[in-house]
Parts: sequence; structure tokens; C-alpha cells
Amino acid sequence: MTAKTLPVDPFDLVIFGGTGDLALRKLLPGLLRRYADGQIPDDSRIIGVARDKQSDADYRAKVGDALSRACASDEVAKAKLPAFLEKLGYHALDATKDEGWEEFASELKAHGEDRIRVFYLSTSPSLFVNLCDRLRAHGLNRGQSRVVIEKPIGHDLASAAVINDAVGSAFAESQIFRIDHYLGKETVQNLLALRFANILFEPLWNANHIDHVQITVAETVGLEKRATYYDTSGALRDMVQNHLLQLLCMVAMEPPAALQADAVRDEKLKVLRSLRPIEAEEIGQLTVRGQYRAGAVNGAAVPGYLDELGREDSRTETFVALKAEVDNWRWAGVPFYLRTGKRLPERVSEIVISFRQIPHSIFENSAGPVMGNKLVLRLQPDEGVKLWMMIKDPGPGGLRLQQVPLDMSFAEAFGVHQPEAYERLLMDVVRGNPTLFMRRDEVEAAWKWIDPILAAWESKRESPKAYTAGSWGPSAAVALVERDGRTWHEDTV
Ligand code: NAP
Repeated sequence: MTAKTLPVDPFDLVIFGGTGDLALRKLLPGLLRRYADGQIPDDSRIIGVARDKQSDADYRAKVGDALSRACASDEVAKAKLPAFLEKLGYHALDATKDEGWEEFASELKAHGEDRIRVFYLSTSPSLFVNLCDRLRAHGLNRGQSRVVIEKPIGHDLASAAVINDAVGSAFAESQIFRIDHYLGKETVQNLLALRFANILFEPLWNANHIDHVQITVAETVGLEKRATYYDTSGALRDMVQNHLLQLLCMVAMEPPAALQADAVRDEKLKVLRSLRPIEAEEIGQLTVRGQYRAGAVNGAAVPGYLDELGREDSRTETFVALKAEVDNWRWAGVPFYLRTGKRLPERVSEIVISFRQIPHSIFENSAGPVMGNKLVLRLQPDEGVKLWMMIKDPGPGGLRLQQVPLDMSFAEAFGVHQPEAYERLLMDVVRGNPTLFMRRDEVEAAWKWIDPILAAWESKRESPKAYTAGSWGPSAAVALVERDGRTWHEDTV
């Protein structure tokens, strides 16, 4: 069974940074898969832009190589690759210089002013201002134009506002698509379906029935090629400000009146604004910063962060755990424990909703403990949803209880190919549907909550706590939840 795809109208997609890592590893493979699936009409065009001077043919060869690797196991995509490459063009431009822009603009205009135009800014955010200025100066924001911007949107509230102002001076807010690829994951949308297309969960979705929520985004990788950027960012800015807070919003928001972009984003914004500020004097109690030392991940020895970085003096955190609270009626007293880090034992992203204990047990001690239900939404590596329930251990020999997962990974059961987040989100941009993208006020509300944490850490000037690569972070992260009589979820089945 194949997934049903909604066709999109023909479009011109310009990828600024079309030779970069994101373009070659995520955007172009995603577009190839959508093309192979018949979703991209034949007269659509994809134009890579970067400074390097090369012909269309050179660019196609380069992209062809990258896509052959990225889609090695996808026979349909491989068969469609030659036809897909025909849609590709290349234009050498420097975002910071005027040369070539007039010609580029004429070429784009010649192809039709009413076509859908997507400008994907897959470059360093330091170029967003230059790019938007030139797109505006050359009159390229016409009719159905949209612009996509990637994280990081700033490194604090003030710098985010500068980027938002620059992009906002060239494009209306309704044309700006701030991408957070976590929102494009199947499981995140399944969360919307579970919550709002079933009567079962929503009556229980509150402080009366939910004990706490855990959100974990764990990576096994270290710095890869991102050392310069990462060392000025750290885990709080790189992961919590965007991905983890967006996931928290999807769990905690009130039901929107309709599945419409602003209705959903209004509700997420209310959550962000309800986050209880973490005060400087609570920083040691409510947050944990870590940095990995040498260790082993998946059986392979790996160096520590400072060795990977080639510096001795960095205090950048590669791990963060924190306890957040949403101050409203629905969530009063329910902790949201968030943790993310590099060089952890496995690559996993999941949301765990832990329900309260039953009020009274009718079972004898010999039946074993009665554990609270858990709804576990796994975003990666294998997307799926499990509901942990208590059942009777099958067989004779008295009544013993056991907790087992009810597996609700229906996509797998139906054999449906789950599109990568970027595939779905790129098609949403073409369609002009911003529901799964962040609005300016959301990004800024998230920074407003993050900035005081950064400031408190900075004023303490403490080094991050060491953890061994391949462990689940510093012991303080375990203590963060154990102090409250809870433990981090472990998938034991
Ligand atoms: P990258 O590999 O360094 O690629 C940067 C691209 O920008 C290259 O094509 C480069 O080509 C081009 N470029 C650089 N300076 C330019 C200029 N002055 N004018 C025009 N083009 C220029 O970066 P990336 O990893 O693809 O990341 C792109 C963006 O996505 C960044 O904002 C990053 O934070 C974000 N992001 C990336 C990932 C990822 O997985 N890679 C994940 C999340 C977010 P030339 O040098 O030839 O000009």
C-alpha cells in the first residue's frame, strides 16, 4: 500500500546554499522522493545557488552523486533520478555582492511571474539579511512567493528579532516559513490525531490524570562538521529552544478550533507564554548542563568534546536536562522533564506521557506492582506510538500483573512508506500551508524563556558537569527526576 499524495502546482524552488550539506543530504533527496512519488509536476524547476562557479551539467553531476548515495536503497527514486536531474539548474551568486543578481532575476521572471516561487535560505543565518535585501531590491517577491528559513534563528531574543526584521522587510509574515523539521515527523502529526481525533485521551490529558511528561532527544554523534557553530551555541540553543519546546507545545496546547495554521500556532504560543520562568536562584535545582568526556558509543571509542574541538577552555554544554512547568489550569503541578545531548548511548527522540497511579489497588502483593500507564511517542529512529498498559500475565499459577506495550505503529503495519520530515514540509511550503512552521511570535516567546537560563548559567560561570561518552549524561540529570520520586523512561520491551 502506498501513501496517498496530494499533488502540488508547478513551482520554482531556489535553494540558496544549493551545494551545502543540508541541500545535498536532506532537501534534494526529499525532493527526489516526492518526484518519484508523482507529487512534483514535470514543469517544476529547482535552482541551486552558491558562490562556486559551475555549469548546470556540473551541478547535476554533483547532485546526482549525492542522491545516488542518499537513495541507494530506494529503487523507485533511483529509477527517476535522471528525469529529476533534468529539472535542476544552477546559478553562481554571492549573497554579499551585486554581480549576477540582475541576470538571475531576469531568468526567474522570464519563467513566469505568477508561478509559485520558493526561496529556501539554506545558508548561514548571517547571510539572511543580505539575501532578503537582494530579493527585495530585484523585485523577486512576486505573487505566490515564499521564503524558508532554517534554524538557528538567532542566538538570543535580540538577535532573533534582527533576523525576523530583515526577513520581514522583504516578505509578509504569511510568506515566511520557519522550519523546525521535528514538526514534520509522522509521529508529531500522529499526536494531533491521537489527541483530537479520539475521545479516549483528551479527557485524561491534564494534571488530574497525567503525572509528568518526558521529552528526550538523544544523539550518538559528536561535533561532526559543525564545531565552529556548535561551540558558540550549545545544546540549550541548538536543541531546546526550538525542537524540544516545539514538542512540548504540541503535547501541552489546548485543542485548536480547527487544524488551521494560526489556530494551531495561537495555541502553541499560549503554552510558550505559560512556561514558568526559571529564576537565577533555581538554576542549579532545575537545570543540568553537561559536556562529554572520552568514552565509547555503540562499542566504538570516541574522544571527549574538548579533544574533538581542539581546545581546552570551552564551557559549551553538549547535554542539557531541565524541569519545566506550564503555569495554567490544565498543567498545574505537572513537570515536563526535557533532556538532550550528544554522545549518548542511542539515537532516540521520544515523548513519554506518564499517567498517574491508580487510586487504590485491589491486587495482592504477590501480583506484583501496578505501574502507571505511559503513552510513548517515538519520533526516531523508528517512528511509532506505544501505550503501556497493565495486563494479567497469561497462563495458570495465580494472578500476576505485567506491563506491556500496545503497539500503535499503524504505518508500519500497513506497509506505508513514511516520508522524511523535509519531504512533507517542502510540499507544505509549495502548497502555502504554514501549520507546521513557526510563527515569529513563537520563536521570540521561546527565546524569552531561554534567555534568562543562559544568563543565569553565564553569571555562575560554572563548567558543565562531565559525563562519559556513551552514558545518559551527568548523574545530576538522573537526580533531577529522582529527587521528585520519578525515573527516566526506559523502553524495556
Ligand atoms: P554548509 O554545508 O556550510 O553550506 C552552506 C552553503 O551556502 C554552501 O552551498 C555555500 O556554497 C553557500 N554559501 C556560503 N556563503 C555564501 C555566499 N556568500 N553567497 C551564496 N552562497 C553562499 O551549511 P549547511 O549545513 O548546509 O547549513 C545550511 C543552513 O541550514 C544553516 O543555517 C544551518 O544552520 C542550517 N541547518 C543545517 C542542518 C544540517 O543538517 N546541515 C540542520 C539544521 C539546520 P559556497 O561556499 O560555494 O558559496
